[in-house]
Amino acid sequence: MDFRLSEEQEALRESVRDFAREVVAPTIAEHYEQHTFPYEIIRQMGKMGLFGLPFPEEHGGMGGDYFALCLALEELARVDSSVAITLEAAVSLGAMPIYRFGTDEQKAQWLPKLLSGEALAGFGLTEPGTGSDAGGTQTRAVLDGDEWVINGSKAFITNSGTDITALVTVTAVTGTKPDGSKELSTIIVPSGTPGFSVAPGYSKVGWTASDTHELTFDDCRVPAANLLGERGRGFAQFLRILDEGRIAIAALAVGLAQGCVDESVKYANERQAFGRPIGAYQAIQFKVADMEMKAHTARLAYYDAAARMLAGEPFKRQAAIAKLHASTIAVDNAREATQIHGGYGFMNEYPVARFWRDSKILEIGEGTSEVQRMVIARDLGM
Ligand SMILES: Cc1cc2nc3c(=O)[nH]c(=O)nc-3n(C[C@H](O)[C@H](O)[C@H](O)COP(=O)(O)OP(=O)(O)OC[C@H]3O[C@@H](n4cnc5c(N)ncnc54)[C@H](O)[C@@H]3O)c2cc1C
Repeated sequence: MDFRLSEEQEALRESVRDFAREVVAPTIAEHYEQHTFPYEIIRQMGKMGLFGLPFPEEHGGMGGDYFALCLALEELARVDSSVAITLEAAVSLGAMPIYRFGTDEQKAQWLPKLLSGEALAGFGLTEPGTGSDAGGTQTRAVLDGDEWVINGSKAFITNSGTDITALVTVTAVTGTKPDGSKELSTIIVPSGTPGFSVAPGYSKVGWTASDTHELTFDDCRVPAANLLGERGRGFAQFLRILDEGRIAIAALAVGLAQGCVDESVKYANERQAFGRPIGAYQAIQFKVADMEMKAHTARLAYYDAAARMLAGEPFKRQAAIAKLHASTIAVDNAREATQIHGGYGFMNEYPVARFWRDSKILEIGEGTSEVQRMVIARDLGM
């Protein structure tokens, strides 16, 4: 058993860490305040190859694996989560379904631009009326000749409305199965297709420099060839994508939790109270020690889930554990880091204020904490 990173993994981690500190840190606060999408940062991430990390070179990828993506996400989130979730959603929710389930034509058409970061794809599963219970999907797609006609709406879709968004994959009811349950399928809808409209961005508590929209499909027609994977396999497809995505979100949460430690150590060693740096007081030291313990154990949990996934072993339970644990401790660490910063922790100019606002969604997106517990219990035979 060896949890140490290889030289190549360590080099990737260092290059993303340097990029986060030198390029993301100086400019992201303004995007966060203004709620603007950081196109220039995303362009540079594309040039570094981050959007192609877990994909083979034949599709324009970097030939790495899912763990490499997780390492990059952790280092980005250590500085900023809007940028990290943009990468996470673009890769694990955007490009991955096309790579996993697409035809050769679909891969050739979309993957080169998605893997270079030149274009982004959204993953349209959640609807205004249903999230955790994805089986409750109401959006419908009817085959009319050689076209799908889509009607319905999707809520909270990341990367769905940027200037470089190329497509959204949409989960829709395409019929009824012999047992009476809904037949769900996934369909690729290119941006700009008539009948596909993107609402203005939401006003969010956190992740304010990331792109999130409600989408509407009103007699939206796309070619029958835009079906992604087999008809009726939509449910199985998104379960697979979400299982993997949970490891990526866990990595992102660990990054945020570690960023809270970084900022707290720095601040506690500088800030004076009662004649000494506050870091000299054991009450503060113990808070920071607990924060480090939590980040470390959550990191081990996602490393374990990723290792199982890459070994081709079952990893559903471990991915849910990693996501549940990492998101819980990210919220804990953000709360404590803010406390250590006192009044300054409540000021947006301090990174910990951003961490605090960005932490809560980690317990909600890609399966709430309750859903993770359901997945774990089910896997235990309950
Ligand atoms: C910023 C942001 C970005 C997002 N990006 C995307 C995206 O790119 N693509 C996408 O498809 N979705 C996206 N989502 C949606 C996200 O995945 C959902 O919000 C999430 O899955 C929860 O669904 P819901 O909001 O409908 O909550 P609900 O499912 O309505 O849940 C409400 C509450 O009830 C609880 N609950 C539900 N069922 C049970 C049960 N059986 N037992 C116990 N408790 C239960 C939940 O845990 C939660 O606490 C995004 C959301 C946000 C906020």
